[in-house]
Amino acid sequence: MVARVKKNDIVSVRAGKDRGKEGVVIAILPKKDKVMVKGIALVKKHVKARKQGDIACIKEQESFISLSKVMPMCASCNKACRVNAKSLEGGKVVRMCNRCKETF
Ligand SMILES: [Zn+2]
Repeated sequence: MVARVKKNDIVSVRAGKDRGKEGVVIAILPKKDKVMVKGIALVKKHVKARKQGDIACIKEQESFISLSKVMPMCASCNKACRVNAKSLEGGKVVRMCNRCKETF
C-alpha cells in the first residue's frame, strides 16, 4: 500500500462544508484516516489567557477531516485524481495519477 495523501500535498476537498476548496496538507493521522488541511474545516476555539500578557480570544483553527473527503491534486493534469500505486524497479512503490498515469 502507498499513502494516497502526504504532508505538503495540495488536495481538493470533495465533501463537507468546504467542498470544492483546495489546500495544503499540514498534518495526517494515518491510523485514523484523518487529515488536516490549511484553511479547511475551520472551527472556532475559545482560548483562555494562560499567563500574564495573554489575551483570551476566539481563535479559528483547522480541524481533522476524514481522508476520504480529500483527493490529491495531480501536478501534471491539474485535477483532483484517484491514486494508483506503481512499482518501480528495485521494489519502490510510487503514486500514479489514475487520469494521466503520471507518477508523483
Ligand atoms: Zn494527472
